[in-house]
Amino acid sequence: MREFGTTVFAEMTALAVRTGSVNLGQGFPDTDGPPAMLERAIEAIRGGANQYPPGPGVPELRQAISEHRKEHYGLAYDPDGEVLVTVGATEAIAATVLAVCEPGDEVVLFEPYYDSYAAAVALAGAVRRPVTLRPVAGRFTFDPAELRAAVGPRTRAIIVNSPHNPTGTVLTRAELEEIAAVCAERDLIAITDEVYEHLTFDGVEHIPLATLPGMRERTVMISSSGKTFSATGWKVGWICAPPALTGAVQTVKQFLTFTAGAPWQLAVAHALRHELPWVAALRQDLQTKRDRLAAGLRAAGFDVLPPSGTYFVQTDIRPLGFTDGLTLARELPALAGVVAIPTQVFYDRPEYGRHFVRFAFCKKDEVIDEAAARLASLGKGAPRTG
Ligand SMILES: *Cc1c(COP(=O)(O)O)cnc(C)c1O
Repeated sequence: MREFGTTVFAEMTALAVRTGSVNLGQGFPDTDGPPAMLERAIEAIRGGANQYPPGPGVPELRQAISEHRKEHYGLAYDPDGEVLVTVGATEAIAATVLAVCEPGDEVVLFEPYYDSYAAAVALAGAVRRPVTLRPVAGRFTFDPAELRAAVGPRTRAIIVNSPHNPTGTVLTRAELEEIAAVCAERDLIAITDEVYEHLTFDGVEHIPLATLPGMRERTVMISSSGKTFSATGWKVGWICAPPALTGAVQTVKQFLTFTAGAPWQLAVAHALRHELPWVAALRQDLQTKRDRLAAGLRAAGFDVLPPSGTYFVQTDIRPLGFTDGLTLARELPALAGVVAIPTQVFYDRPEYGRHFVRFAFCKKDEVIDEAAARLASLGKGAPRTG
């Protein structure tokens, strides 16, 4: 695990603190989730929900997850045997990769990818097979031929993240059909990370891969309450999958954490049943924040690639005279008092992401405005290299 020793997130957060910069690096909201959900957690603690919950998750939550999948996507998952509550999507991803991969097996990933995927693949002794997402007309997408070429005889699984962090791409039905066809032809298990399932913009619809013909039986569908209900510190996630896959993941999960978060599980069950109107308002609010930050970044001289979902906006830094996002991210606190994340850290082949920098907009309006005001000076200086 040596290659995973230090992350750029820790470096950039430390830099933000040291320099008093506005931190648009880390992707967590700076406001709380629905008040009634928070109250429900407090009630649950007062009411004694403070011991180990059942291994698969508290029944109320599994029932609520099952109902939510059915109502939103028409997917029926049995709360007993096809739903497993995990410690966030992070544990769900790690436990699933560990469950389905033997050492030497390969996992296809779309780069740039969420950093825990590579670590989970390494923990399983498996091998990453990256497929690069590239901007086409301002939106990151993949080349189906490249996807097919990445799959070999030892490829066991593919991790599909849509809405996608860090590019903000929401995969279209046509793109999902390409992925589904490859899964069927090459007998792959699809591991879907759908933590931003509710956070899409401009009326763009999130389509779960499991809803495509033939995909439910080979998909481990992962989501989490963290992003949906602005409670990233609660770490309540889940998988939905056919019984054999769910059982395999639970076998691993029971030795990672066994179980966790009894009061938060009860509160999330409430939220899934009663707080989706709150989430609809959050989505609208985030879309406005996206536009607010994008306008500021454009005014500062960045080329903005507007996202259709998630918390993040990608920028191309070359119009400002920079070529390397890591250099810019390290200099930005001194240049403008803002912290962002160099997108190249999310790639196996950083050269493809060299000139992109990621900014988070899941922040209060005044924080976004302050960042925009500070960045405004950036384009006015002499063009830089490096
Ligand atoms: C935040 C995030 C996660 C982690 O979810 P948790 O529920 O906090 O573990 C997983 N995948 C993506 C793409 C994320 O952005």
